[in-house]
Amino acid sequence: MTKQPWYTSGLVLGLVMGLLLTACVAPPPPAAAPATGSDVGSAGGGVLNLLCTPQVEWCEGMKAEFERVNPDITVNFVRLSSGEALTRLRNEKDNPQFDIWWGGPIDSFIAAKQEDLLEAYDSPNLANLINPDLMKDPDNFWAGVYVGSLGFATNKNWLDEHPDVEPPTSWDDLLNPEFDGQIMVAHPSSSGTSYTAMCTVLQLKGEAAGWEYLREYAGQVLQFTKSGAAPAKFVGQGEAAVGLVFSHDIVAEIEKGSPLALSFPAEGTGYEIGGMAIIKGAKNLDAAQKWFDWALEPATQELGPKYNAFQAPTVQGAAASRPELLEVTLIDYDFDYCGSNKKDFVDRFTNELASDENLKE
Ligand code: PLP
Repeated sequence: MTKQPWYTSGLVLGLVMGLLLTACVAPPPPAAAPATGSDVGSAGGGVLNLLCTPQVEWCEGMKAEFERVNPDITVNFVRLSSGEALTRLRNEKDNPQFDIWWGGPIDSFIAAKQEDLLEAYDSPNLANLINPDLMKDPDNFWAGVYVGSLGFATNKNWLDEHPDVEPPTSWDDLLNPEFDGQIMVAHPSSSGTSYTAMCTVLQLKGEAAGWEYLREYAGQVLQFTKSGAAPAKFVGQGEAAVGLVFSHDIVAEIEKGSPLALSFPAEGTGYEIGGMAIIKGAKNLDAAQKWFDWALEPATQELGPKYNAFQAPTVQGAAASRPELLEVTLIDYDFDYCGSNKKDFVDRFTNELASDENLKE
């Protein structure tokens, strides 16, 4: 039986979850075919056009798993980071090419709901959610499909070469002179991971001090990346000393053999609820509802580690593969505040602190 996770109570200060599962590592799959908007699959059956925001390996795995239990449906997916996905949905509003969006922090789903880009769906499996107040939209426009905390990844070889330096254990440590030009993080305009980090700081410090902090933090960054998880890979390769990434993505890189030390800010870190929503005007609504229901089943949510994904589940009866990643001090992240202000905060960051041109792929 699964122990009750911390998020059952609604809010969040480093409590205990149970059960470890064994991870298994698979090689990255080839990129998937783009969505077509057609409702006819290659085998003559139905099609589902999926906008997929987690790492491509997990997207490819979920596609295969869904097609196995729904052999009459072909899933076409495109992998886009959260900000890119939101821009795409805005641009396609009058002729939506995707049926469902799966993954990426719910801040972007809250923004998408406000822009009338989503379709409500009262799935029977919403009843499986551990904490419906936290993990679904009150009007059923989106539901949570995983949970994860932000962490710091430090290259162990760099630490060996700098014996006086410890891995960062507070947000302020990122501003230390030894990390000048040594930080790697995604840009909040393209990445939900990076936006979660930015909005964490604005909540922890308040907006005035938070923006001042972000100005200094942007000055420490060697290179902004497009995707949220990429800094873990680049820091593992020694391109910078420290990456700011979701902790499950750091674990995924460690599982692949990267020399990374994982640490957390002691004063509190931000966390994400990864979202899922049907797109308004979806051309393949039945298939989208099937995916939505399926993604909220415990067996589906336990598939992650098979595809090197270590996020915690959102449904009862599914065991967390790495419960320790949520046994840290988490802030009381205000998803409505961050979702409602996403466009303004990202525009301010981009216009005043760091441009989103030439992001590292
Ligand atoms: N990839 C992984 C593995 C994630 O855990 C998440 C978090 O939701 C994302 C991607 C989000 O993507 P991005 O930060 O690129 O928007």
